Amino acid sequence: MANERERHDLTLFNRTWLTVLIIQVICLVSHLINGLHSAAFTTGWFIVALCTLYFIVRKGRVNVAKMAAIVFISIDTSVNAVVFGEQTHVIDFLLLAALTPLYFFEIKNKKFIFSGIAICLIPFALYQAMASYFVQFALPLTTQLSLYHLIIWEKIFCMAVLLYLIYNKNAHYETEMRQKENELVGQKKLYESILEQIPIDIATMDKDLKYTYINSAAVKEASVREWLLGKSNVDYFKFRNLDVKGAVAREAILYEALNTGEATEFEETFVDKSGNTKYSMKGVSPIYNEHGISGLVGYAFDITDIKEAEKKLKEYAIELERKNDDLHHFVNATSHDLKSPLRNIASHLQLLQRRNAGKLDEDSNSMIAYTIKSVKHLNQLIGDIYQYAIADKNDKPLEMADLNLVLDETLKQMEDAINAKGAVISHDVLPVLKMAPSHIDMLFSNLIGNALKYNTSEKPQVMIRASDNETAHIISVADNGIGIAPEYQQQIFEIFQRLHTASEYEGTGVGLAICSKIVDNYGGKIWVESEPGKGSTFYITLDKEMVEPVVKENHNILPYNSIAIAG
Ligand code: ADP
Repeated sequence: MANERERHDLTLFNRTWLTVLIIQVICLVSHLINGLHSAAFTTGWFIVALCTLYFIVRKGRVNVAKMAAIVFISIDTSVNAVVFGEQTHVIDFLLLAALTPLYFFEIKNKKFIFSGIAICLIPFALYQAMASYFVQFALPLTTQLSLYHLIIWEKIFCMAVLLYLIYNKNAHYETEMRQKENELVGQKKLYESILEQIPIDIATMDKDLKYTYINSAAVKEASVREWLLGKSNVDYFKFRNLDVKGAVAREAILYEALNTGEATEFEETFVDKSGNTKYSMKGVSPIYNEHGISGLVGYAFDITDIKEAEKKLKEYAIELERKNDDLHHFVNATSHDLKSPLRNIASHLQLLQRRNAGKLDEDSNSMIAYTIKSVKHLNQLIGDIYQYAIADKNDKPLEMADLNLVLDETLKQMEDAINAKGAVISHDVLPVLKMAPSHIDMLFSNLIGNALKYNTSEKPQVMIRASDNETAHIISVADNGIGIAPEYQQQIFEIFQRLHTASEYEGTGVGLAICSKIVDNYGGKIWVESEPGKGSTFYITLDKEMVEPVVKENHNILPYNSIAIAG
């Protein structure tokens, strides 16, 4: 706003000065031609004065120049008027004195002002230039006098009109300016009150990184806020008795933002008055005006709570992992410790039965057989529970696994069961995925095992298919078995949920729960589509982001830093 006015003043002054200078040069020439040496001397002096003025203006000292212009013009005209008694110069003196406010007020309508000046000064110049010719042409004295008076009246008239218009226009302009200023002040207050409401530290800085605005969230004490305006981060750190190195490091980042013109975010750690470590997230972006970057706007908020929560979360995760490991060890040891006495019980019972063959009655024999069967079931259950416990565990880093190869291996292990059923197993070409082979094996063995087990058809058929969509790989295992009623299609994925008794179909009710846990681990889902008597199809999805390698072939992903350096 101030700059705008300065520029406006300067243009106004330069143009006025030029107009006056041209007129004076015309006068000088005419005085010299006509041998009016004293007038030529005064005019020459006046031109020198104007040149001096111009120099001052070029130096940018507009107000001094304005003042000086008025003084020089006034001296020139008053010398002519008072010392030489020239009446036209008295009028000029008054005219120029009346124009004085022109230099002190902000005048908007430049065209109007300059045409006004021209109206007043051009007849004056013409008169001065031609005055001596009147004598030379020996016009009758009465004609000269009436011409002379005509010019005087014309000047008085022009001066009055000009004065009226200047003040009138200027009054409008002043009101308009005041209105605009009020609007701007209102807007500034509105934005400042918005900034005051935001519970985030906000500050602006100029190009020298001196504060130009600070909200009360950033600095609570109004007096410190006031003091900080025009001060740097180093000043502030000194004031707060903080380590100045922190301010220097911060300013390096701020200068970087100024130089690159890029917004940036950074974290700061500091120790507060009570000795607690605090963390703060800071961001800074350049502010632009018509000439480019004029400063920076920065924000900051306390992330101590977030940091502490993160730290606690990390600690919990480590603790959880440790407990999980303990649990796995425990499950491993327990299943091993339980299984071996159970095996002993079963083998001893079998030995007992063999040694007493023929001595035991029917009931005793069937009780022993039932106990052996129960012990075997318990053994199987412990094994399955162990598998369930470790289903989400994988000690080795994930590598690419060819699902076709893993499936071949699984089928080899199931060969007896497949042959006993006379089943036909077929499969699509399966994908190569980033998965633990033991997990793939567990999925296939449980699903294919069930497809064979819950199948009463003469020619059991199992079909393994693979497809994918935008986000996931889909594997399905379809059979022509007994099927599952819709109301049970969800509960079967929960542990120990069985739809049949052990005498109908052997099992522990853990297999699908293991599958569900594994699939969950790869960001996928498992579900079944089935109709009783018409077979079942189990679907598995595996999240592509989890089972596909991060860096694809022919696709270079540079580390972030490299991009930044290259850019
Ligand atoms: P288990 O087979 O040991 O009982 P699962 O968790 O593997 O345990 O299966 C849970 C239940 O889901 C089974 O008891 C069975 O009733 C049903 N089920 C699983 N797979 C099939 C299938 N292919 N066809 C029909 N029913 C099935």
